[in-house]
Amino acid sequence: MTQVVEPAVPPTRAIGRVTHWIGGKHAAGGSGRSGPVYDPATGEITRQVDFASADEVDAAVRVARAAFAGWRATSISRRTEILFRMRALVDEHRAEIAAHLTAEHGKVPADALGEVARGLENLEFATGIPHLLKGGFSEQVSSGVDVYQIRQPLGVVAGITPFNFPAMVPMWMFANAIACGNTFILKPSEKDPSASVYLAELWKEAGLPDGVFNVVHGDKVAVDAILGHPDIAAVSFVGSTPVARYIYEHATAAGKRCQALGGAKNHMVVLPDADIGMAADAAVSAAYGSAGERCMAISVVAAVGEVAEPLVEAIRERLPKVRVGPGSDPTAEMGPLITREHRDKVASYLDSGREQGAEVVVDGREHVLYREGRGFFLGVSLLDHVTPEMECYRNEVFGPVLEIVRVPTYTDALALVNDNPYGNGVAIFTRDGGAARRFQFDVNVGMVGVNVPVPVPVAYYSFGGWKASLFGDLHMYGPDGIQFYTRGKVVTARWPDPGTSSVDLGFPRTR
Ligand code: NAD
Repeated sequence: MTQVVEPAVPPTRAIGRVTHWIGGKHAAGGSGRSGPVYDPATGEITRQVDFASADEVDAAVRVARAAFAGWRATSISRRTEILFRMRALVDEHRAEIAAHLTAEHGKVPADALGEVARGLENLEFATGIPHLLKGGFSEQVSSGVDVYQIRQPLGVVAGITPFNFPAMVPMWMFANAIACGNTFILKPSEKDPSASVYLAELWKEAGLPDGVFNVVHGDKVAVDAILGHPDIAAVSFVGSTPVARYIYEHATAAGKRCQALGGAKNHMVVLPDADIGMAADAAVSAAYGSAGERCMAISVVAAVGEVAEPLVEAIRERLPKVRVGPGSDPTAEMGPLITREHRDKVASYLDSGREQGAEVVVDGREHVLYREGRGFFLGVSLLDHVTPEMECYRNEVFGPVLEIVRVPTYTDALALVNDNPYGNGVAIFTRDGGAARRFQFDVNVGMVGVNVPVPVPVAYYSFGGWKASLFGDLHMYGPDGIQFYTRGKVVTARWPDPGTSSVDLGFPRTR
């Protein structure tokens, strides 16, 4: 049984309306545009979130730009001290942050606390900034000449984040960006914006100077203002593939550094020698956790050879035991989806799957919470005999639907994964170390799990997919994050005695 924790009451100080956070304080929107924030468990609108205009984004950038000179000059030890305080505050307020996630995203408290814990890792990594920012020094590269390399912050950098991890994904970005000496503009998802403002309040309490961390809410208008703003040096994005591609193209066309992480279609390959019970437990946990709204959720099981029949049976058997319900129900393991439209889109893949020849083993629309129509619930769903031509396979479903593709051999399973346009995560379940090693060598996917269904790297490695799951060169957080948020500078220096120089028009040589 999943450990559950009673949700605390979200203590945001901006009840009813979620405002921007600019220059260390709430900044009510002046654009006249706003959007609804729902409680997905009831379907009710609980708040309105301000949508920034281009002028409001510009105001945030001006504040961040003004704060940059002071922040980059702040000593590394002082920056580290603030990061340690922020780390302690997030740790102390895990329950409150998680409550915001449950209230607006719908994920159950245990899952929300898991998100906060994985976000916190990034602040912990960033507290190592004194070590992470060390450069290199080469003494005596030529007679009396030394060369050293330093890494410096970029300036104002922006993060644009998705609805499914409203606390963790911003932490993936801002922990390292701020530690490196940049100032930050966060444009969180407009669907669940409160956690980001709560984190801003914690930064202030931690002693971060005003203007170093800012939040602007909104839609495409705010995003386009970020992409076109001449004073934003870099953009980190996480979201769906079409938007990631758009962000990457526009940000780089405007001369910005960009890393844009997109969608996914993660496969779990189960070889005939795998432990069926363990594979079934893993598939159910990874497919339905967070209602399948994780970019690392398992969406497809590639069942190899004779494993298919007993594996499908073992998965099917487990499904009635998955408790679907609101975060306020301490027994619930899976919450609702983010919006009604998204829920209906997810459910539509069950119909198209059936029409195109798949077998609907379990239909989540038969769940009582779906039938009652309250909130955006859909029960767990299982599709068997899926093939790569089907709509449900070709699209990222992003909901509690697990698809089984039956393949005859390991080679077919590998081809299935490698032919898929996405390459975020993949897992292999086997007891054969040689097969696992060969898979790890052959597979064209950025993050691989060996008997681990959701292989999200720890914060001291970096997170990133391949193919249509990432546009850009560097992965997110960890060592790649430090590289992304800094640029190198190499200094060549000598201190000759006066009177020892002469004019020499030749190209500088070391020998
Ligand atoms: P999304 O692409 O709809 O939105 C992401 C962000 O982009 C939001 O801040 C949103 O306001 C903004 N946005 C949306 N449409 C836009 C447009 N037309 N122009 C400019 N900006 C726009 O994604 P989502 O629905 O919030 O999140 C779910 C998606 O994110 C899934 O595809 C999931 O796989 C992906 N995701 C990927 C990762 C990863 O690490 N690869 C992690 C989490 C989520």
